[in-house]
Amino acid sequence: MDWMEQMRNGCAKCGATGVGMTMSMYNEDMICMACKAKEKKRPDYDQAVNRDLTEYAGRLDERGMTAQAANVRKAAAYRAAFVKE
Ligand SMILES: [Zn+2]
Repeated sequence: MDWMEQMRNGCAKCGATGVGMTMSMYNEDMICMACKAKEKKRPDYDQAVNRDLTEYAGRLDERGMTAQAANVRKAAAYRAAFVKE
């Protein structure tokens, strides 16, 4: 299922439709902002964000975008050290 289809089907967690949606940090599910707020309270949320950033940096490297990948890795390291959501 692509993300457009997911948007039409509503939130993958609670089924809400016609609301703002975003992608989960844990998988490729589209979820509503209320479920996103709950996700942010999970104790492993920061790890999930850092994993997502690290994967993104890897994809940039694969495309030869090494400077951008280095910046994403720096952002992930900064986040891990200082940011608590
Ligand atoms: Zn929801």
